[in-house]
Amino acid sequence: MKIKKPQIYTQILIGLIAGVIFGLLFPVHGDEIGIAYKEGTSINRKYLYGWQKASIEVDGSVQAQFEPGNNNKFIKSYELFKEKKNVRILFIFKDGKTEAYSNVVRILKPASLPVHLKPVGILFIRLLNFIAIPLVIASLFVGAASLGNIRRIARIGTKTLVYFLSTTAIAIAIGILLANTIKPGERLSVESKQKLMQEFAIDVAKIEEKAAQSSVVDFFVNIVPTNPFNALASGDMLSIVFLAVFLGLIAALIEQEKAKIVIKFFDSFTEIMIRAVGIVMLLAPYAVFVLIAAIISEFGFGILQTLIWYVITVIAGLCFHMLIIYPLYLKIFSKMPIHRFFKGIRPAQLVAFSTSSSAATLPVNMECCEKNLGVPRGITSFVLPLGATINMDGTALYQGVATVFIAQIYGQGLGIAGQLTILLTATLASIGTAPVPGVGIIMLVIVLRSVNVPEEGIALIIGVDRLLDMCRTVSNITGDAVGSVIIASSEKVLDFEDTIHHKDLN
Ligand code: ASP
Repeated sequence: MKIKKPQIYTQILIGLIAGVIFGLLFPVHGDEIGIAYKEGTSINRKYLYGWQKASIEVDGSVQAQFEPGNNNKFIKSYELFKEKKNVRILFIFKDGKTEAYSNVVRILKPASLPVHLKPVGILFIRLLNFIAIPLVIASLFVGAASLGNIRRIARIGTKTLVYFLSTTAIAIAIGILLANTIKPGERLSVESKQKLMQEFAIDVAKIEEKAAQSSVVDFFVNIVPTNPFNALASGDMLSIVFLAVFLGLIAALIEQEKAKIVIKFFDSFTEIMIRAVGIVMLLAPYAVFVLIAAIISEFGFGILQTLIWYVITVIAGLCFHMLIIYPLYLKIFSKMPIHRFFKGIRPAQLVAFSTSSSAATLPVNMECCEKNLGVPRGITSFVLPLGATINMDGTALYQGVATVFIAQIYGQGLGIAGQLTILLTATLASIGTAPVPGVGIIMLVIVLRSVNVPEEGIALIIGVDRLLDMCRTVSNITGDAVGSVIIASSEKVLDFEDTIHHKDLN
């Protein structure tokens, strides 16, 4: 008897669950640490297990002491001392033994088995990103060029933007409301606050440095690239989107006989990229397995406990937005059955969760919306790349919660004006957030500044950012998919009846 091979969604799900189990089985232990130290001209690496206390000494006097479980702080603090003369690190082990090391060049995070396997996952993400940029440029160009006449372009463009902005504003409002109701900031002890502020101060400095690079106005002006090839080469998504839509729309305006050849070229190019996604997706179950295993094995569950109310608030908000708001939109503006929709985009959601990147997920999302939901290429190729870049409901919701949370911890009331300011700036910040992992927290700085909430408060939430990034990215790409369905439906081109026979939906 032939055993039926499980479909891609089931395979990825199995990969994800197995990854969680594997990650839990091989965690990175708090009392493991690596050191790279100079001996003569060579650099040796050594991993130490079972240490109980470590001290950094300069000229024989202790400068800082660390206990297991605080490796991040240990690693970062050492960076401040390593250039000094006569520095050594003294380790005291559980059995009372001591070991001292000088000429330490770097302290290293220990790597567990899952972390060693991570390159497979990185390869998968790189392949998806490799596809994403050519796909965005080609499909968005074709999408914009085939919107038809000016009236249709204006109609679809306006509908898309109204949808994006309305769902983003609702997402932020949900985030702010929940944060005001659950009050996660008032549930964090002063002791935990001090610990987090100390441990993550150095990361905040890096984030502030990145965020300081441009003002909001500069940011919007810079969307227009002076050299389109530079924008392409540096992978600057907003500029690429501008470039593709702008040129695509112009292609729709010139004589069709002349535009035809370029449109055809990009159309074939899109086809090649979409086919490439299908091939790369063969790696998905394995990649998801190693990515999730590595995240779980490295994740400090201690910090999750400390910030549990904050995490609950963000996740509750995301669930509400995904399970109530999107279905409402689908119900009101399309005939797509809700369960069909969620079934159809499950593979994309799993990839978003594992990669934390809307850009990497874009090719998969396009495939799901076209093949499983019956959204025609003409709509997906316009709405999805645009949405992946500027429509980030999950990120906006998270920025709303994070701002109120930090304000609560600093005992700062925000008032109605403050909350409205958050609504406005988080909308802009989410538009400006690049669709790659961890950018949401950088753009959060802009929201915090707009309501004068101390930026260093980011230290409080950075420890759980990776986890929340995974969750918010799922919401980000789901919002784009909903958009493509309701725009297609409103244009009467949604063809989901035809796709019901698609058994590969699983
Ligand atoms: N990782 C998110 C995305 O790609 C962006 C963010 O919130 O950091 O959609």
